[in-house]
Amino acid sequence: MEFDHILIRYGELALKGKNQKKFLIQLQQNIRSKLKQFPNVSVKRSQGRMFIVLHGENPYPIMDICKTIFGIHSLSLAIKTPNDLTEIKNAALYALQNAGNKETFKVSVKRINKGFPVHTMELNQILGGHLLTNTSGHKVDVHHPDVTIKVEIRAEATYVTSSVLEGAGGLPVGTSGKSLLMLSGGIDSPVAGYLTMKRGVDIEAVHFHSPPFTSERAKQKVIDLAEKLTAFGHKIKIHMVPFTKLQQKIFQDTPNGYSMTVMRRAMFRISEAICRREGILSITTGENLGQVASQTMESMHAINDVTNYPILRPLISMDKQEIIRISKDIATYDISIRPYEDCCTIFVPKAPKTKPKRDRARYYEEQLGYDDMIQEALNHIETVVIENNAAEKQDSFDGLL
Ligand code: ATP
Ligand code: MG
Repeated sequence: MEFDHILIRYGELALKGKNQKKFLIQLQQNIRSKLKQFPNVSVKRSQGRMFIVLHGENPYPIMDICKTIFGIHSLSLAIKTPNDLTEIKNAALYALQNAGNKETFKVSVKRINKGFPVHTMELNQILGGHLLTNTSGHKVDVHHPDVTIKVEIRAEATYVTSSVLEGAGGLPVGTSGKSLLMLSGGIDSPVAGYLTMKRGVDIEAVHFHSPPFTSERAKQKVIDLAEKLTAFGHKIKIHMVPFTKLQQKIFQDTPNGYSMTVMRRAMFRISEAICRREGILSITTGENLGQVASQTMESMHAINDVTNYPILRPLISMDKQEIIRISKDIATYDISIRPYEDCCTIFVPKAPKTKPKRDRARYYEEQLGYDDMIQEALNHIETVVIENNAAEKQDSFDGLL
């Protein structure tokens, strides 16, 4: 006997009513795509659960990958048996014996198949008794067991599991549309991208760079960050915007206190234009209220003026320490702290206004007349597509519905 399946629970998805099928198909497709490197495994849907059939593959690297897939609430190694009491007893015993050094246990039966002849309570007792008789040193503790042997009796078969691993939670990437992530080389924006993906959103990225003031290595940093983010979703297209001319013009011709505001307005204008071109309906940033002087309410008010696209700011309520903790968890932190400067850190005005006014920002922008330069930057965007390591070409999701 061996653990031959991984049982996937998707919690939140159960609430999605008639959209549920779409969510489930996307989740199944995302799991398949992440597990491409294991050609023997298959991914099946069954009422309320998903199963990875291992076909002899080592489950542990597969479970590690599953822990990064949004939409998975929790997962467990499982043994599949026929709906037969003797077989179920054997599987429960195997699960307990392989649960590690656990002293106390309880059995929890879920009888989804109401046709199964033994009722839930009775089955709990029969299996508990069987485990006590056939092991030594184990005790039952129904309130705080070290391990729960879960037995799900379903129409087609019974699945027996022991330990439960926490999944990434959230919604399957690809079920909530697409957002354009403004990706700098800093700590915050990759975390913002990750959190947006957690809500099921696919992302493309935009990065503003100012060669030769910013180096190739700063650009590479952004590519490496995007590569880390693909672990949680699909491939990511990065739009690299040449920003040197615009930035120089803005910093020469705008009163010092407003150059930052006008520059950020230019970034949002370009981002919105990319959204229009790509059919993307929102922009995501790593902005966080009050973290730095440029991120005040007044500053957001003055910058946001140029677009009525929804701006997702998933970090808005977070403390820096929380953001850093997530960036370490998702392995972007070490890349973000590489010392190569982005365009915003190089062109920093001496004294940026912490409380810029919309009207003044508009006025200085009009004085600049930078529309042609914005268009030129848009015309010279370079795109890079960062593929997910494990994923190959995505199956068409619509075709499956
Ligand atoms: P981060 O750590 O993400 O760089 P930050 O704390 O440095 O953020 P700001 O410099 O005020 O904050 O930038 C706010 C947001 O603007 C960033 O989180 C990012 O979404 C966007 N942004 C800033 N610089 C760039 C850039 N060069 N390219 C693309 N987006 C940028
Ligand atoms: Mg930054």
